Amino acid sequence: MPPISDFSEQELLRAVVMGSPSALLVVQADRQVILWNPAAERLFGWAASDVVGREIPIPDDGAREESSRLFSGAFQGQDLVGIQVRRRHRDGHPLDVALSTVALHDTAGKVVAVLGAFEDVTARKAAEAELARQARMDDLTGLVNRQGLLEQLQQVQLSARRQMAVIAIDLDHFKQVNDAFGYPSGDELLGAFAERLLNSVRPDDVVARLEGAAFAVLMVGVDPSSLETVVGRLLKSLTESYQVGGQEVDINVTGGVALRYQREVPAEVLRRAGVALHYAKQVSRGSFQVLDEALDRAFQDRVELSTGLRGAAQRGELRLHYQPIVTATSGVTVGVEALVRWEHPERGLLSPDKFIPLAEETGSISAIGRWVLRQACTMLRDWTDSDPAAANLSMSVNLSVAQLQDRDLVNDVRAALDHSGLAPERLHLEVTESVLISDPASASRALGELRDLGVTLAIDDFGTGNSSLTALQRFPFQVLKIDRSFVSGIGTRAEDTTIVAATLALAHGLGLKVVAEGVETQAQADLLTEDGCEELQGFLFARPGPASVIRRLLGRTLRPDDDRPQPAQQLSA
Ligand code: C2E
Ligand code: CA
Ligand code: CA
Repeated sequence: MPPISDFSEQELLRAVVMGSPSALLVVQADRQVILWNPAAERLFGWAASDVVGREIPIPDDGAREESSRLFSGAFQGQDLVGIQVRRRHRDGHPLDVALSTVALHDTAGKVVAVLGAFEDVTARKAAEAELARQARMDDLTGLVNRQGLLEQLQQVQLSARRQMAVIAIDLDHFKQVNDAFGYPSGDELLGAFAERLLNSVRPDDVVARLEGAAFAVLMVGVDPSSLETVVGRLLKSLTESYQVGGQEVDINVTGGVALRYQREVPAEVLRRAGVALHYAKQVSRGSFQVLDEALDRAFQDRVELSTGLRGAAQRGELRLHYQPIVTATSGVTVGVEALVRWEHPERGLLSPDKFIPLAEETGSISAIGRWVLRQACTMLRDWTDSDPAAANLSMSVNLSVAQLQDRDLVNDVRAALDHSGLAPERLHLEVTESVLISDPASASRALGELRDLGVTLAIDDFGTGNSSLTALQRFPFQVLKIDRSFVSGIGTRAEDTTIVAATLALAHGLGLKVVAEGVETQAQADLLTEDGCEELQGFLFARPGPASVIRRLLGRTLRPDDDRPQPAQQLSA
């Protein structure tokens, strides 16, 4: 350090004390103030001349006791660091301050005075409180938000023994209101809706906006036996038309109701109300659903199943079963259809109806579909390599709507073919009519690209949708599979017999080969054969089974009276 100017250490200390932005004061053991700096004057409103030589000025409002405790602690040598205390300004207004202390010792080491440093944190505390309040509020409607509702639920649950219910309410098709009238009107509607909701419940009830057009009401002290009436009345009042931007708007609302179970945590009641809402939307949009235990269990079941499904392919839990397809005239196996199963670690072998729709909804279908394609192609390659009877066999694989909409599908198919080295035309891809109806544009694009790869395309479950055969012409199919529901009526229900015969004639007219699914009786097989159906598939010939069983049937003639081996592993349905 360069030599400093000519002033004493005492002068330096004086400057530090006088210039400090922290309020500093020094108090002796007898409580007399001996130092009070300008920042302390500003913070507490007392001038140094008012306090120096006197007892420390503390209004008697509860802080006195705390102050003396801290004071005696400090004199016993306990230094404080930034503890938050509440003090008052001379004029009475409260101050939130952070207090630190340092003991001053005499030469013998005894504490003779204490320096207190106060920092004003009033503004910071107020800002924190405001942030916390905002975190619980919904700006648009002034209602509490999800967090606020959860806090209220917590409080109610801690205090009340009374029965409590949460009603989740959705304003249906709100997006359409936004689209039709614009966002400002959408906001106006939400505001009006919130207000009506508040006015339709009791003052003690808590109304919250959870997000978007999702609201919830917490009702305390409800009588379970009158709950349905109360909720019905509430929803009815909410659906009366609204004035938005000078126009009359009609809306629909759907509700989900959950009564609180004993000792249930708040988030759980809200979750169950959401589950009830989910069901209400599926079965009774515009109305409401009360969640009972059976419904909740079914839902939990689905959640568990879909969670397990996510990694099922990677964990090696998927299996393929194969069902032979035979020529109608000779009964020789000319192909197999790959049908997926899930070996669930707890529930055993599950059939595709139990998990394919779920996989489609939750997005797991891509991974499953990719695994099925790869596995089916590899299996056919193995059979071809080891068994001359399998040389010309085809492998049919089912594709779901979601897969056709997935841009990766064509690459996945190409990869499966490359990996197995199969001739593309031996891979038959089956899609149902519903695909063509729900999303004709994606279907048309995907099917065109698949056809360009050289694979064979089949329309599955034909007759169950509403597409006409002429609509089929627009898509590059080569095979048509008549749905089992028609096949089962052949020879017994006149209209089924007619439909099957007409479908066969028209399909042939369009140059499609026809496979009949679900053939269970010899009579059905005979009639189909007479009508010119090329191939048959069904329990009459063989049930789907694992590769080890099915490989023995390849290239063989399957007759109902065959003493062929039956697949050992059957689905328990
Ligand atoms: P699908 O494509 O119509 O498959 C034929 C279904 O009919 C199979 O049921 C088969 O076991 C059954 N079946 C065959 N012959 C007969 C018969 O003579 N009588 C009766 N009553 N049923 C017969 P499964 O294996 O339970 O498959 C059901 C559906 O699951 C399939 O219907 C298909 O839509 C879907 N699926 C199966 N595997 C896959 C897959 O890998 N991917 C996709 N996306 N869907 C699949
Ligand atoms: Ca199929
Ligand atoms: Ca089918």
